Amino acid sequence: METGLYIVATPIGNLGDMTARAVEVLQQVDLIAAEDTRHSQRLLQHFSIDSRLIAYHDHSDARAQDRISRVLAGGGSVALISDAGTPLISDPGYRLVREMQSLGYPVHPIPGPCAAIAALSVSGLPTDRFRFEGFLPSRPGTRRNRLAQLAAENATLVFYEAPHRVLDTLAAMTETLGEQREAVLAREITKTFETVKRDTLSGLHRFVEADVNQQKGEIVLIVSGRPAVAAELDEATASLLRRLAQELPAKRAAALVAEHTGLRKKSLYEYLLTVKGD
Ligand code: SAM
Repeated sequence: METGLYIVATPIGNLGDMTARAVEVLQQVDLIAAEDTRHSQRLLQHFSIDSRLIAYHDHSDARAQDRISRVLAGGGSVALISDAGTPLISDPGYRLVREMQSLGYPVHPIPGPCAAIAALSVSGLPTDRFRFEGFLPSRPGTRRNRLAQLAAENATLVFYEAPHRVLDTLAAMTETLGEQREAVLAREITKTFETVKRDTLSGLHRFVEADVNQQKGEIVLIVSGRPAVAAELDEATASLLRRLAQELPAKRAAALVAEHTGLRKKSLYEYLLTVKGD
C-alpha cells in the first residue's frame, strides 16, 4: 500500500458502520496507533485485524511519534484510530498530523462515522452553516461565558456533552441563548436506545429532567443559531429593543421599534424570544 499516515474513522456504536476501506487499510498497515489500545483491540479482533498496535495521544511522549515517523521513513504505513468516530474530532491526532506533514510524509483520510455529522444530518435544523464547538468547558462560570460568546452566532451550533452534565448544560443554554431557541438532543446514535428529540431549549430541558434515561449514554446537543433578523439588526437597535422589552411587554416593544425602523414587528418579536435570557 502507498506509504503514509492514514486517519481512519471507526464506528460510533454500530459495528456495521465500519467501512470496507477502513478494514482493508487497518489490515494492511505496518502499525496502528490507537487512543486506547485495550478499547480498540475489541474492534480489531472483530474484523480479524492483527496489525501491530501502539498507544498514541497528543500528550504521548516523543517515543510514540518517533516510532510512527520511523515506519514512515522506511516507506511503511501507519493508521491512526480513536476510540470511536473520526480521529482529531474532539479526539487525539492534531499534533501527529501536523508533525508528519511537516516531515514531508503524506497523510490520507479514510472517512467514516462522526457523531457531530450524524446528529446534524437528522437534527432537522439548518445544515447550510454550522459551527462545531466540541465539549463546552466543565466549570459552570466558564461554560456560561462561552455560551454567552456564542449567543450572537447565526450558524447552527453543535456540541458534544457528557451525560452527567447534560441537564446543567441545557439549563445554562436556556438561560444564555433564550428558552425559545430550537435545539436537538441526539443520544446513542446508531445504538439500541438511539433518541433524536427536537424542541425548544426549555422543552428539551424539561424532557431530559423528566426521564433519567435521557441523562445516560453518549450525547450530541445541537442548537439553532440566532435567527437572521438579528443579523439585520444593528447593535444599537438590538440593544434599544432589548432595553424596551425590560420595561414593556415584548409585543409592545417590538411594535414600537418596528414603527420607527421599518423592520417587521413579527421578526423583532421572535428575536426578543430568542434572547430572553440575555
Ligand atoms: N471523534 C468522535 C467523533 O467523530 O464523533 C468523537 C469523540 S468525543 C471524545 C466523544 C463524544 O462524541 C461523546 O461524548 C458524545 O458527545 C459524542 N458521541 C460519540 N458517539 C456518539 C453516539 N453514538 N451518539 C451520540 N453522541 C456520540
